[in-house]
Amino acid sequence: MKTICSLWRTGLAGPDWLKLGFIPILLLLLAFVSQQVNIWHEAENWTEESRMALSKRPASGDIVFVAIDKQTLDEIGVWPWPRSVMAEAIDRLVESNALEIFIDVDFSTPSSPEQDAILAKSIRQANGTVSLAAFSQTSSVKSGTEDIADSVPLPIFLDSAWLATVNVFPDHDGIVRRFPFGNMIAGEPESSMPALLSGKSGLSGLDFAINFAIDPDTVPLYSFIDLLSNKLPESGLEQKTVVIGAHAVELRDTFAVPVYGSLPGAMLQIVAAETLKQNFEIVRILAIWPLLFCALLQFLVLLLWKSTHLLTRIGAVLAISILAEGIGFILFYTSSISLPTAALHAMNLALLLVLAVREFGLRNWLIVLADARTRNANNLLRQVFDDSSEAILIVDEAGAVLEASPKARIIFGQSAVQRENPENCIVMPEPILECVRQSLADLNQGVRASDTGGELILTSATDDKIIEFTVTPSRLTNTETRTQFLADGRSIACVTARDITTKRRQAERLDFLSKRDELTGAFRRHAFLDILNQKLARLTPAQSCQIMAINLNRFKTVNTTLGRDVGDQLLCAVVTRLAESEIGVECISRLGGDTFAVLLQETDPQLQLHVTSLQVANLLAQTYFLESGSIQIDVRISYARSESPTQAADALLNCAEMTLDEGTDVAGQSVRPYDPVSSAKHARARQIERELRPALENRDFQILYQPQVDVNGRHLVGMEALTRWSHPVLGAVSPDEFIAIAEASGMIEPLGDWILQAACCEAANWTEAIPVAVNVSPVQFLRGDIIASVTSALETSGLKPNHLQLEITESTILTCSDAVLQTMHDLRSLGVTLALDDFGTGYASLGYMTQFPFDQVKVDKSFIRNLTTDPTSQSIVQFTKTLSDVVGATMLCEGVETEEQLTFLKLIGCDQAQGFLFGTPLSAKIIRRMIAEIANSEHIEEYSRTA
Ligand code: C2E
Ligand code: CA
Ligand code: CA
Repeated sequence: MKTICSLWRTGLAGPDWLKLGFIPILLLLLAFVSQQVNIWHEAENWTEESRMALSKRPASGDIVFVAIDKQTLDEIGVWPWPRSVMAEAIDRLVESNALEIFIDVDFSTPSSPEQDAILAKSIRQANGTVSLAAFSQTSSVKSGTEDIADSVPLPIFLDSAWLATVNVFPDHDGIVRRFPFGNMIAGEPESSMPALLSGKSGLSGLDFAINFAIDPDTVPLYSFIDLLSNKLPESGLEQKTVVIGAHAVELRDTFAVPVYGSLPGAMLQIVAAETLKQNFEIVRILAIWPLLFCALLQFLVLLLWKSTHLLTRIGAVLAISILAEGIGFILFYTSSISLPTAALHAMNLALLLVLAVREFGLRNWLIVLADARTRNANNLLRQVFDDSSEAILIVDEAGAVLEASPKARIIFGQSAVQRENPENCIVMPEPILECVRQSLADLNQGVRASDTGGELILTSATDDKIIEFTVTPSRLTNTETRTQFLADGRSIACVTARDITTKRRQAERLDFLSKRDELTGAFRRHAFLDILNQKLARLTPAQSCQIMAINLNRFKTVNTTLGRDVGDQLLCAVVTRLAESEIGVECISRLGGDTFAVLLQETDPQLQLHVTSLQVANLLAQTYFLESGSIQIDVRISYARSESPTQAADALLNCAEMTLDEGTDVAGQSVRPYDPVSSAKHARARQIERELRPALENRDFQILYQPQVDVNGRHLVGMEALTRWSHPVLGAVSPDEFIAIAEASGMIEPLGDWILQAACCEAANWTEAIPVAVNVSPVQFLRGDIIASVTSALETSGLKPNHLQLEITESTILTCSDAVLQTMHDLRSLGVTLALDDFGTGYASLGYMTQFPFDQVKVDKSFIRNLTTDPTSQSIVQFTKTLSDVVGATMLCEGVETEEQLTFLKLIGCDQAQGFLFGTPLSAKIIRRMIAEIANSEHIEEYSRTA
C-alpha cells in the first residue's frame, strides 16, 4: 500500500505538463478501447433517441398515408378483401391525380382470376404509377433447413407496376433504427420502398439511419374507407405520393421504433422515406474525435489544476461533458450528425474519480475505511459498555473520568464525564482514585499489573450504598486510530463497580439470623462462643474475660400458668433490660430456654464481679410490665472469669453454666462464683450419674456380704448385703456416693431391684439357713413398688421370706404416712422382717419406734466408735436397748471393731453385733466357703481369723 501511495505522490504530483498529460491519455485509451468493444452502445442509442425527441420536425407533406384502419376493416369486412376493393382505390387515386401509388400489401398469392384481373386492370390503367411491395422472409420450412422465400406480387400485377422492397431489419434489441436502400428479391437487386418514395434508389446493399426527429403525426393520413367513399379533400391527393398500408392493430404490421415506441409498417416506410427525402439520414461520427477533443480539454483543466479552486475544477470537468452534449445536440439538430458522447462522459467521470482520490489522498481514503471498521468495533464495544449491568469507567492518569457507562452514572450519580463537562462530572471517590493511582504507578514501573479493588460506602442524603470495585490498568498501544479518547502511549485504568448493597444486606440478614436467637435477638451459643474466643485472643496477660450465666427461676411456671406468649415477652424484656443496663454488657446470648449468658466489657481481673452480679440479679428481679400484666421473677446468677488468655471460650462458659447448675437446689435469688472444687465434685457426680445405667446394664456392680453375729455365742445370725462399684476410671466408688446419686437420678429403682434379686438368689444358695439383710433406699420405699420387687425377688430366688430382712433408714419413716406404714405391714405379712438402720443419726422419735413394726434396731456405728470412753454413747446404746425391748425388737450394734466394745455390749445385753471384729464385707464366693466351713466350727471368730 505504501508503494502505491509513494508512486502516486512522486509519479503524478509534479507540475510537469507531461506528467499531467499522462492522465487524459490513459483515460482516452481506456475510453477508446471501451468504445470499440461496444460497451457504450446502449448509452449511445439513448442519447441519440433523446436528441431525436428534442429536435422534432414536420414531414414534407408530399407523402400521404392512406391507412387501412379499423374503421375501414369494420366497413369493408374481414381481411383479405376481394382485390376489386384495392382496384377501386387505385382508380380513385388515379382520378385524384396522385403522383405515385405505393401499396404495402402482399399480392404474392392469387385470389380468384376475376378479382385478380380487375386489380391488374386498374394497375394497368394507373399507367405505371403503382409500386407494389415485395419482401423476402425466412420461411419455417418443414425440412428443417432455413429458406429465404421471396414474396413477390403475381406477374399479372407486375406487368404494369413497379416493385419496392419493404423488408425491415431491427437491431438486437428489436428496435428498428436503420433501413436498407434496397434488397435482393428473387436474385435481383430491388430498391426499398423508402428509397423509391424519396427518389434515392439505386444504393442497394447499403442502409441508412432513420431520423425519428421527423414527426409521424405530421404525415397526412387518410382512411382507406374515406378514399373509397370519396370523402377526401378535393386536392388532398393531387400530385402526392400515396402509400396504402395497414394501420389497424389487428393487421399486426407494426414495428418497435425509438421515440414513439411503435409505428405501423407503412408509416415506418414513410418516416424512412422522409429521412431520405429531407436529407436527414443520421451520420455517425467516429468516436475517437469527441474523445480526442475531451482529452485535450481535460489536459487543459489539469494544467490549471493547482491554480483553481476545487469546485472550479469539478465544474470545468463537468463543463466538458455539457459542452460535448451541447455540440452533439446542435450537430444533430442542424445536420443530423450523431456525436457519440457516452465514452466521453465516462472519461470525464473517471477523471473526476481519479482527481477525487488524488485530492483527498489515497491514505485518507484508507483511513476513512479503517475508521469505518473502527467505528463498527466501537459501536459494538459501546453497546456492550452501555448495556453492562456493572458500572464501567475509564480513568486517566490524572484521575479524570474519560468514559462512563450509564450504570456508572446511576451508581455515582452524575450525568456527564469530566472531560466533556467539568462542571457536571463524575467525581470518583478517593479510595477508587487511590487504587487507580497505585495500579497505574505499578504499571508504569513495569510491575505486571493485576486487578486490584476493594469496597467503599457511598453516603448520600437518602441512603448508603456499598460499592465493590475492580481496577484494571492498561497501556494503550493502538495509537493510530482516531477513537474518541485514546492517545499516544497513555496508561488508563478501567474501573468496574457494582452496587452490592442489597446482596450485602441479605448476607448480613442471613448472618444475623444464623447468629441470633429469633425471639430475643440475643446471640446463639455458637456465635457467643465465637465472640468470646475473639475477645480472649485479644486479651493482654493482665486482663481477663468476665462472664455471667443467668437462669430465670420458675420460668416454667410462668409459661404454664400465664401462657407461652407471656413467657416470650418476659424473655425479650430480660434481654432488653440487660442490654440497656449500665453494667457494661458487651454481648448477650440465649443459651437455652430460660438461660442466658452475658459477656462484660470490663477486662480488669480485679472487678468486683460478685457485686456486679448482685446488681444484675437485683435489676432483673424488678417488676416487668408486660402487655398482659406485671410479673416478678428471681434469677440465679453464676459468674466466672478467664484464668488465662489461652483458655477456650467453651471451657469458660462451661464453668459458669456448671456453677449455675450447682445452685439449682437453692430456692430464690442466688449469686454464686465459679468454684473449681465444688465444680469438680459436681462434675464427678454428673459423671457418675451418666454412667450408672450403663454400669448396671454391664453388671459392673458387685455385692459383698458382712457377717452379723450373736453377741454372746458369736455365732453367725445374718449377713448384710453391701453393694460395690468399681469404676474403670474413678476406681472404687463408695455406695455412700453412688446410692445418693442413684436416688437423685431415679436410677435407684432398677439398681435396688437388681440388688434385691441378686442378694436373695445368693442367700437361697447358702448351705446354712442364714438370713440376708438388704438395704432399701427411702426412694425405693416411697416411690417404687417395693412389695412387687420383694415378691418378685423371693419368687425368683426361692428364698424363704423369713430369711430376708429389709433395712430401712430413719429418713424413710420421717415422711410418716399411712402409705409407708401400710407398706411395712404388707412386707411383714409376706414374712419379711424389717430393721431400722442407722438408729440415732436421724430424728426418729419414740413415737415412731412404737408405731412402726420393726423386728430389729441397728445402732449406728458412730455410737460404737467411742463406746468404751464416751459415757453419752454408752447411755444412748443402753437406752436404745431398753427401747428395743419395749417394742419387742432385737438390737444390733454396727461398727464393732474391738473386744472392749463387744464386752460392753454384752454387759448391757445387746443381742447382735456387726463389724470388722467379726468380718469385713466379703465376696459372695468367700462367704459361701465360710458358711460351709462354719457349720463345723464353734463360732465365727475362728473363721474370721482364718479368713
Ligand atoms: P450401712 O447400711 O450402715 O452399712 C454399714 C457400713 O458400715 C458399710 O459401709 C460397712 O462396710 C461399714 N462397716 C461395717 N463394719 C464396720 C466397722 O467395724 N467399722 C467401720 N468403720 N465401718 C464398718 P459401706 O459398705 O461403705 O456402706 C455404706 C452405706 O451405703 C451403707 O451403710 C448403706 O447405707 C449404703 N449401702 C450399702 N449398700 C447398699 C445397698 O445395697 N442398698 C442401699 N440402699 N444402700 C446401701
Ligand atoms: Ca445397713
Ligand atoms: Ca447402718
